[in-house]
Amino acid sequence: MQAMVLKKIGLLRENEERLALENLAVPQPAENELLIRVSACGVCHTELDEIEGRTPPPRLPVVLGHQVIGRIHTVGAKVTFFQPGDRVGVGWIFSACGSCRFCRTGNENLCPDFKATGRDFHGGYAEYMTAPESSCFAIPDIFSDIEAAPLLCAGAIGFRSLRLTGLTNGMTLGLCGFGASAHLVLHLARHLFPASRIFVFARSVNEQKFALALGATWAGDIGDKPPLEIDRIIDTTPAWKPVITSLAALSPGGRLVINAIRKEEADKNVLLQLDYPAHLWQEKEIKSVANVSRTDIRQFLELAAAIPIRPEVRKFALRDANIALAELKARNIRGAKVLFMHPG
Ligand SMILES: [Zn+2]
Ligand SMILES: [Zn+2]
Repeated sequence: MQAMVLKKIGLLRENEERLALENLAVPQPAENELLIRVSACGVCHTELDEIEGRTPPPRLPVVLGHQVIGRIHTVGAKVTFFQPGDRVGVGWIFSACGSCRFCRTGNENLCPDFKATGRDFHGGYAEYMTAPESSCFAIPDIFSDIEAAPLLCAGAIGFRSLRLTGLTNGMTLGLCGFGASAHLVLHLARHLFPASRIFVFARSVNEQKFALALGATWAGDIGDKPPLEIDRIIDTTPAWKPVITSLAALSPGGRLVINAIRKEEADKNVLLQLDYPAHLWQEKEIKSVANVSRTDIRQFLELAAAIPIRPEVRKFALRDANIALAELKARNIRGAKVLFMHPG
């Protein structure tokens, strides 16, 4: 099978061809696993964090990709629910211990033994992959394969982020950064909290226009002063400046939720501008999001189908994964980027 393989950690700006197209053997499913013929795989900012070593895979080479849609080819001997031919999706959660206090309370994303798809185990930048049945999800019929892919991470983690903000209808919501996840959160928030006004902070004018077209109340650059204080903000950027500017924009008692697996080092010195009275006093809070639990994915897919959410997607052939990643790095973003494996 064809796969785009990461063999060596390094910065994208030093080599934009970080992944190599290779022919690998089709994997065999273990007894609790499914063998999936992959049709689409979303491209996530986390792949850049893996490639550049901020959250490095424990073993190389590895096949990246954790927003996978495909059809079951064969099932392991102990698989009970799914059957060959079923369409399934796989997200970042590949496995967790199942017995620690986090796993027992539905927060297996916080499990010390958490294993990630496309980092700890091979992911979906390939024609086939295996995954435990317990981490595979049925995909609602209304979504095409390409549309469904970004729901598995960008959408599901957006859903968890929105939940962790504690937003209630009528509170103001800010979205700092407007990539794959934020544009889905905007859809979601407009549906769940119709009385809430939504303010979008994005670097590029195109992203700002896109946000307004999707129903944002206001859009401006990161650091621009919004017309109102904001009660809850979700930051999806890899930079530090948005942490400071978001805290400044928060209302008393406001909360900033950072939806990023890692922040980059480039502008870290901006944190020295952190001013207690302006940014933290008045009971402002900061919380991070550590990706998703299985329940988040399940609930989000159901909700996305009911609304319905239609992700804006751009297609790339599997062999063009490096191009998609370079565009993501350059923050050339409109909606979500998705690799497709088979023509048609
Ligand atoms: Zn992701
Ligand atoms: Zn656990």
